[in-house]
Parts: sequence; C-alpha cells; structure tokens
Amino acid sequence: MKRRKASALGSLIVIFVLLGGVYGGYKVLHSPEFETNKPVISMPSERFWNSHHPFDVNISDDTGLKKVIAYLSNGKERVKIADIDFKKAPKNYTLKVKYPKIGFEHESDNLLLTVIAQDISKWHFFKGNNSVKKARLKVDTQKPDVFALISSYGITRGGSALAIFKAADANLKDLYIETNFGKRFEPIPFYKEGYYIVLLAWPIKEKRFSAKIVAKDEAGNVSKARLGFFLKSRKYRTSYLQAKDRFINGKIADLAEDEPELTQNLSPTEKLKFINETYRTINDALIKEITSKVDHNRVESFDIRPFYPLKNGKVVGSFGDHRYYWYKDKSNVISESYHLGIDLASIRMDDILISNPGVVVFANYNGIYGNMLSVYHGLGLYTIYGHCSTLLKKRGDLVQAGEPGAKTGATGLALGDHLHFSTLVQGIFVRPAEWMDKKWIQANIIDVIDNAKKMIDK
Ligand SMILES: [Zn+2]
Repeated sequence: MKRRKASALGSLIVIFVLLGGVYGGYKVLHSPEFETNKPVISMPSERFWNSHHPFDVNISDDTGLKKVIAYLSNGKERVKIADIDFKKAPKNYTLKVKYPKIGFEHESDNLLLTVIAQDISKWHFFKGNNSVKKARLKVDTQKPDVFALISSYGITRGGSALAIFKAADANLKDLYIETNFGKRFEPIPFYKEGYYIVLLAWPIKEKRFSAKIVAKDEAGNVSKARLGFFLKSRKYRTSYLQAKDRFINGKIADLAEDEPELTQNLSPTEKLKFINETYRTINDALIKEITSKVDHNRVESFDIRPFYPLKNGKVVGSFGDHRYYWYKDKSNVISESYHLGIDLASIRMDDILISNPGVVVFANYNGIYGNMLSVYHGLGLYTIYGHCSTLLKKRGDLVQAGEPGAKTGATGLALGDHLHFSTLVQGIFVRPAEWMDKKWIQANIIDVIDNAKKMIDK
C-alpha cells in the first residue's frame, strides 16, 4: 500500500516534470531569444573575380548577428579574411571580401570562399544558429584585349561614321561604344570571331564628338580604347518662316484634333507651338523607339547603295534646318524646331522607292509625319518616309532594293505633296545626304569594310 502511494506520487512528479518540459519547450520554441531561423548569407555559389576590387557579401538575420568568419582557400592553403564579433548585433552586415594582403604561396585561379555567420539566438544550448555558405571564385585578372582596327576617316556633325575593332576576352560580359553625349552604341559581330563593327552618329545638336570602345568581363576587368576620327564641324541653315493664318487654321488646327485634351484650351498660335514642339517630340520619341534596335547577327558585308527615294525628286527642304516661325511680325517668333530629314518633291502621289533591301518596322500614322513608313537595313541603319498618301507595305514585310514602299502625299505637317526622308543610326537622326552620296558610301563604308577584312585575313 505504502509502495503504491509512493509510486503514485512519483508518477505525479514525472507528469509535472514532463509538463514543465513541454511548457518550457513550447516557450523556447516561441520566444525570439530561442528563434531557429538561420542567418542568410547572400552570394552566388560561383562567380568571377578580378581579385583587385573587393566585392560585397550581404549577411542578414532577423534577430541579429553575433559573429561572422570568412576564409579563402586555394586548395592548399587557407587564409582567414574576416573574424568579427558584433557588439550591437546588427540585423544586416556587408562583408567586403578582399584578396589577402600577404596572399597565397601557391597562385591559383580557383579559390573557395567560406562564410560562417552566427546569430544571437539562444538556441542550440546558447550557441545560436549557424549558417555556412561556400562560393567558388574564378580569379581572372586579365583585362579584355581591345583595339581599334579601322574606321571612317572622319565624322561630320550631324553625320555618320563606321568603326571596326577587336574585342576578345575569355569571359566577355559587356561591350559597347561610350560617347561624350551619353549615347551607347551597340556593336555587331563582324566577319571573324572577336571582331565587331559599329555605325556611329554625331547628333546635330552636340557640339563635340568622342567615342570609346568599352569592354568589361565577368570578373569586372575593364578595357577602353578611343576611336579616332577627324572631326568636321558643319554649319546648318537657319530659316525664318511666316506662320500664316491659313496654315494655323488649316493644318495646325487639324493636327491639334489628334490630341483634343491637350489642345482644346490653346489659342491658335499656342496650337502651332504645341504641334511644332510638343507633338513633334512625341512623334520623334516613337521614331527613336522603333529605330534604336540593333540585330546582333554577324555581319560579313554591308552592300548598301545610295538612297534615291524619288525619281527626279527636287530637294525642297534641307536636313538640320533650324526653323523659326513668326506670326504677323518678324520679331514675333512663336515657335522653333529642327528639320531632321530632307524634303523631296516630284509629281503628286509619286512612288517612293526603297533603294536598299530591308524589313518594314513601322507602317502607320505618326502625327506630324503623317502616314509613315520605316525600314531597317541592318547595321543599325534605318530610313523613314513621311507625309505618305498611301502605304504599300505593312510592318514585318521584307522590301527588295528598288521596290516602291509608299506613295507621296501631304499627310501630317506638310503643306504640299512631298516626301520627308530621314535616315537614322541607332535612333539618332543623321544627314541623309551622306547615305544618298555614292562617293561618301564608298569611302566611309564599303572601303572601310574591305580594308578591315584584308587586315583580319593577313
Ligand atoms: Zn520634312
């Protein structure tokens, strides 16, 4: 009897202890002090590294970090590169991984980075939660090999030029042409492995022009090489045009109806300013968008012929013309704009010939340009045909050299039947005169490509 009593008491104690254990366990599991979330070490398991520039590894923990240790090893030796005890238990820490000052005795292109992070949790008998992450570092200290092979002799303000260069690296990541005006031109693979070709443009509104090849590899090594051109400045025309009431109440009023919400409260002269400046900017932005794309198929040659879109077309408006519009009095200038194409006129509804093969990238209405056709000819070169009465092609159509693409008209901001012809290089308006000139094309495009091939084959 006595024994049974004692054993009952014992059982009760056991139950209490167990309950206490369960309760304690419950408390531990649900208290932030005993949280079980491991620190997060953010780094890819493999990366390139030039070993000159430190790189960042972000470490975070929801309760706070206690300790971070990092090692670099080359398979034979191991160097401790970080050993930090935090006093304030930060939730985030950025570890700067630097190449050890003393370095390794054995040079190696392959390093292993080990990062160990511990949080302030009391879990694991007060040891906290540990995270270990390893990353393979491929050391690449070799800069890309870049050099300018050949280019057009010069470039004219508002004009185009060609450059061919070499860029080679085992792990090439980025390759582009950097300019003084912020535009990056994309090069296209040319002829043989490691060679590139690029058409460049000097925007008419930029006073200076300079261009550099920039090559970056996966490890962050960067090489730059200047592309040298003889710079030819060029003066463009300034015109003062009278804005007649007939024009303002006719064409301008009609075009303003394209944007009723933006123009309904404007006076007739304000409408002219809106159409000639704001609407033009909107229409040009669309042109820029459709003409900025570059295909990256390897180029073997570029057999471009002079553009000659209208048979017996007379030039009635020039590229780069800075046009001021005055109203009633010559001193009352109400708007200005740059004319970024040439105007050609012949007979009404004349065939517009697409002189070089290409693909139609736009065939639709575009504000001041009216019904507009745009064709991509490769190498970043586009042509635009504006004010058309009829478009004979649609987007995606292929055009043969010499085929008619549209018929002239007076849609958009045009007073009489004529063609507005623009040429663009990677989204930048350039002088059509160059692309209409056989000698210019021969010297600046065809000969440059032929000479480059000879240099590469040597
Ligand atoms: Zn025009």
